[in-house]
Amino acid sequence: MTGREKREGPSEMSAVKGILKGLGTTWRLLWERKHTVPYPDRRRVRSPRFRGRHELRRYANGMEMCVGCELCQVACPANAITVYAAENDPARPHSPGERYAFRYEIDLLRCIYCGLCEEACPTDALHLTQQFELAAFSRDALVYGRDLLVSPEASPFAIPDGVYPPFHGVTRRGEGEPAGVEGERERA
Ligand code: SF4
Ligand code: SF4
Repeated sequence: MTGREKREGPSEMSAVKGILKGLGTTWRLLWERKHTVPYPDRRRVRSPRFRGRHELRRYANGMEMCVGCELCQVACPANAITVYAAENDPARPHSPGERYAFRYEIDLLRCIYCGLCEEACPTDALHLTQQFELAAFSRDALVYGRDLLVSPEASPFAIPDGVYPPFHGVTRRGEGEPAGVEGERERA
């Protein structure tokens, strides 16, 4: 046996030992409880405090809880929210307040999910849900408007008594066209 072969002996042995040790670890861990989940077939239960995609809720009677006060827009540290309010048509109001959010947008790419907008909302309209699957193929698709944000379902909340004064406004535009909408369209 040459000197070189003598030197290679122990290193080959240690390589085999390493492989056996690795296989042993694999075999042992095969039977242990797994810490991963087969997403998306199974989803982990998240904390109740988890903050995901936004939703604008409705009262139990179907009216929108958002009154277009813009406080969420002011509170947002990432400038992710855009709210343009319009006067409600008293014949067919969107919300129990004098105004509603004619245009409401949240840029989910700017949002840092801090929840300050939810805290600032005086009517509890804005709610951060548990939904986190927000992938899209374009930036524009992640700017959510009223069509995606206003919940189609009514919530269990009833309109609070004595909060909203009776509205005595008049409809200044055509049927179904809330006052102020035209100006907001020009600004948009
Ligand atoms: S969660 Fe925070 S960053 Fe996102 S829209 Fe609300 S206030 Fe802005
Ligand atoms: S979501 Fe709340 S804070 Fe934002 S405009 Fe509507 S009522 Fe105001």
